[in-house]
Amino acid sequence: MSPLTLTVLGCDGSHPGPGGAGSGYLVRHWDSGTALWVDAGPGTFASLQRFTDPLSLSGIVLSHQHDDHWSDLAAFLTAARWTLGFDRDPLPVLAAPGIRSRLVEETDGLLDWREVGDGDGGRIGGLRMRFSRTDHPPVTLGMRIESDREVLGYSADSGPGWAMSELGPDLDLALCEATYTRDHESTDAIHMSGREAGRIAREAGARRLVVTHRWAKIPAAAVLQEAADAFAGPVGQAEVGRGFSL
Ligand SMILES: [Zn+2]
Repeated sequence: MSPLTLTVLGCDGSHPGPGGAGSGYLVRHWDSGTALWVDAGPGTFASLQRFTDPLSLSGIVLSHQHDDHWSDLAAFLTAARWTLGFDRDPLPVLAAPGIRSRLVEETDGLLDWREVGDGDGGRIGGLRMRFSRTDHPPVTLGMRIESDREVLGYSADSGPGWAMSELGPDLDLALCEATYTRDHESTDAIHMSGREAGRIAREAGARRLVVTHRWAKIPAAAVLQEAADAFAGPVGQAEVGRGFSL
């Protein structure tokens, strides 16, 4: 078992497709017993429970206020308060602006909320984080997540105007949004094609690329091929339940 693993909880772009889930990932650093729920899109709380006890999480990290990246936090709060028997310290949350004010559920005693922005850092358990504002409105935070040895870069959502190198060097794995194919590219886009994802991951010097956040109507193989052609290195596709070791 690699010390750092990424498990895909949901990877559909912008909204869940048939039987799918919005964006969400379980990042685990086994050496330190750290487990992060990174983005909590619709359907990802169901996936999360396949892989871990939600009350054993070390923390939650939320990239931005679009529903497809955080709305299952409400499901977590309902479960924590009413069915799972919450009996632990409040769970640390590092979140982009604009999310907390949209939560209807009470968070007191359940979450230890900290808002973060461009350039901020954070630490939860054995993992350090650094955030970078991407090319996607409103404020959206890509992130570098690293242990003592491994580095994961996550684009969150972004148009092609953001450089993944903003996350720093030595990315072992770049988890990058590739929402569609090159025929959807435009100068004012707030998402990327497979080709654009491959380019920014290559320019960042990432060793490996995993593409995610594909719209359900877009053929997976086409996005993957574009990304592979542009990246010129190993490329994988996010799928619910799929795991990657760094
Ligand atoms: Zn999204």
